[in-house]
Amino acid sequence: MQILLLSILSLLTCLSYTDETALSNATNAQKEECMADMKFDGQKMNLSERQWAERLTPEQFKILREKATERAFKNQYFETKEKGVYVCAGCALALFQSDDKFDSGCGWPSFSKPVHAENVIYRQDVGFFTTRTEVVCARCGGHLGHVFDDGPAPTGKRYCMNSAAMKLTSS
Ligand SMILES: [Zn+2]
Repeated sequence: MQILLLSILSLLTCLSYTDETALSNATNAQKEECMADMKFDGQKMNLSERQWAERLTPEQFKILREKATERAFKNQYFETKEKGVYVCAGCALALFQSDDKFDSGCGWPSFSKPVHAENVIYRQDVGFFTTRTEVVCARCGGHLGHVFDDGPAPTGKRYCMNSAAMKLTSS
């Protein structure tokens, strides 16, 4: 019972940070912990393409909604070492943590795993010559990038993401 009460209390504390003022007063560590805690709750976000166009920059729209790929080495986060949580640029769901980011040399931000397995979904992306695994935001369905099997141990995965599909928080 006591554990249950404690979990409810910590959840409420976390939720209170979604309030703008509380968020600005929270320390970076608290914010990071809160964002990393954000597991997808199953509530999908469904907006029309027109609503997405109003909400996103043209670059974000091309990537998240039209599956474009930004240029290698010419994007915001490929060599960023700052600590924090990378959230979806479309719906702010937590996606990756800086602790799981590694320098893959491929020119895009690369991670060994998502912050929570539930927060991303996978789709087969069949091209003319290759079949890749597309990584999509579980909440808004936005295209994030692709995952490959040549990452570091222990996961062996390389989540190769578009910088413009994400925002680094608590930086
Ligand atoms: Zn999203």
